[in-house]
Amino acid sequence: MSAASPVIVWFREDLRISDNPALAQAAESGAPVLCIYVHDEASPGIRPLGAASRWWLAGSLRALDASLRERGAALHVLHGSARDIVPALARAAGAGAVVWNRRYGAAEIAVDTGIKTALREAGIAASSFNGRLIHEPWTLTTKAGGPIRVYTPYWRAMRAKGAPDMPLAAPAALVGAPFPAAGGLRAVPVDALGLEPTSPDWAGGMREAWTRGEEGAQARLEAFVTGGMAGYGEARNRPDMPATSQLSPHLRFGEISVRQCWHAAEHAEASGSVRASPGDLETFLKELGWREFSYYLLHHNPELARRDYAPRFEAFPWRSDAGQLDQWQRGRTGYPIVDAGMRQLWTTGWMHNRVRMIVASFLVKHLLIDWRRGEEWFWDTLVDADPASNSASWQWVAGTGADASPFFRIFNPVLQGAKFDPDGIYVRRWVPELAKLPSSVIHAPWTAPRPILDAAGVRLGSSYPSPMVPHDEARARALAALRSLSAKA
Ligand SMILES: Cc1cc2nc3c(=O)[nH]c(=O)nc-3n(C[C@H](O)[C@H](O)[C@H](O)COP(=O)(O)OP(=O)(O)OC[C@H]3O[C@@H](n4cnc5c(N)ncnc54)[C@H](O)[C@@H]3O)c2cc1C
Repeated sequence: MSAASPVIVWFREDLRISDNPALAQAAESGAPVLCIYVHDEASPGIRPLGAASRWWLAGSLRALDASLRERGAALHVLHGSARDIVPALARAAGAGAVVWNRRYGAAEIAVDTGIKTALREAGIAASSFNGRLIHEPWTLTTKAGGPIRVYTPYWRAMRAKGAPDMPLAAPAALVGAPFPAAGGLRAVPVDALGLEPTSPDWAGGMREAWTRGEEGAQARLEAFVTGGMAGYGEARNRPDMPATSQLSPHLRFGEISVRQCWHAAEHAEASGSVRASPGDLETFLKELGWREFSYYLLHHNPELARRDYAPRFEAFPWRSDAGQLDQWQRGRTGYPIVDAGMRQLWTTGWMHNRVRMIVASFLVKHLLIDWRRGEEWFWDTLVDADPASNSASWQWVAGTGADASPFFRIFNPVLQGAKFDPDGIYVRRWVPELAKLPSSVIHAPWTAPRPILDAAGVRLGSSYPSPMVPHDEARARALAALRSLSAKA
């Protein structure tokens, strides 16, 4: 490669400039860099991005472009098949090398491997790096060398490997290579991708809730490690408190790296600058571990979003009920904690983890609707919709997954609400038609005496729905369905 041959940095799910091994390597080479993002609608992942993720992506790409420009480069966005575009662009630009950070789904790996081969055949170097995980899936195994199936031994194996590498600094300056005029390829503005809604513009609640991009991600991390992490161990289950980091969409799009989160949390606890206990820290690191484990499961089970991890569930008698699915999606189930969660999701693109577990359990066990319908809805509406964490978590709640919560553990949404939102603050925020109910009945309005409902302006069945299924009946039906499965086995 000649001294002036550019290096192409192909950004994918790593939309940041700090702790980005591919970008760091390109910058260190001293060659001009051509930074690209290829919007591949026929993307090889589990399915194309959902609507909320598309919205997030638009902001993230703009933010990355701005950071690269501050350092002398820019982000060139292309639209089409990465398989065709990346090798063609490399040839047109006379690139000496193409670098990227790795992905872990089987289909993505197949695309990346094909591109690597095509580049090398054309005499262009191609290198990939780990920019997404602490430990890549093939680096942890059981003693016998097979995949680990249970979280606790996975976490032990991960811990035994020691702390993750220290994050890399952002390159101070870059030399941007011009986009090649030859080759017939065209870079397009982010707006031309049509990622954000126009009419109707349903993204207002998301714009209010989030700052997309690396700076927003760093600000969230800073706020968490200097504040919210104190008490995280207990309070993380409380949707009525701002107790968790809300880093998930930033991690999803790689605006921040898991190593940065890990080290910032450890540093804050060790330096004593926050009142976080070692237990708070360990609980937070363990959640990052669940993210790693989800990628591990996806890597070893590429069909994780489609097929029951436990094959015996393939014969489960799921019900198909479009009307009930719609009530659940719209937050009109008549169970306030479920409805609050589904409305938080619709408005902000995010839902608290405890409530995700409650609403998922409700869909799968109270309504007996296939977990795949829930996974698809979350995929479309979550700003953090993640091919690994979403599938693994749905299967975990449904009892079909690896090391899953057993199917017979059926959450009572009233008790869950009373335990984790004791004063009804979360429900009042997201289900305003119940806001005037006293806390004693807010999670079960149908138990309130008529005068209390009247005083709060609640008319069950019109201003707020009655429960769509009685809890005890739903529970009995779910257990019978499970028994029918056992009988078939
Ligand atoms: C049904 C269901 C679907 C889910 N779908 C997704 C999804 O699509 N994308 C996603 O990122 N998370 C998903 N989760 C996991 C979890 O709910 C979110 O990661 C968490 O709520 C994000 O909030 P936070 O950033 O404040 O988390 P924190 O509590 O601050 O945790 C820090 C980080 O650890 C990771 N993490 C935490 N809990 C989990 C978990 N159980 N599994 C995997 N990673 C975890 C996330 O990256 C998170 O940002 C799902 C959980 C359930 C029950």
